[in-house]
Amino acid sequence: MKKNPNKIKSVISEKRVKLHVFEPSKRKIWTVVGKGKEYWIDPDLDFCSCPSFYFNSTQGKSGCYHLESLKLAEKENKIEIVTFSDDEYFDFISGIIDDL
Ligand SMILES: [Zn+2]
Repeated sequence: MKKNPNKIKSVISEKRVKLHVFEPSKRKIWTVVGKGKEYWIDPDLDFCSCPSFYFNSTQGKSGCYHLESLKLAEKENKIEIVTFSDDEYFDFISGIIDDL
């Protein structure tokens, strides 16, 4: 797929890569805020919930700029970490899923 370095750079400089950490279990959820939407990313599975990721996977390709952004943000330590309590975990998940 075609990469868009400017798009990725702005995601990182605007700190739109977020790591949500749930305490005390330390469960982690990654999201990247795209165009007015927040997408759920699983870096271990190389998964993103955005439409272009879905589209690419139907074309036998993989990846999207959110995943690229996440990897770069991790490397450059530009991740926004947000802490939640475990009580909020299911609400958080269903909030994301509702949004898909
Ligand atoms: Zn994506």
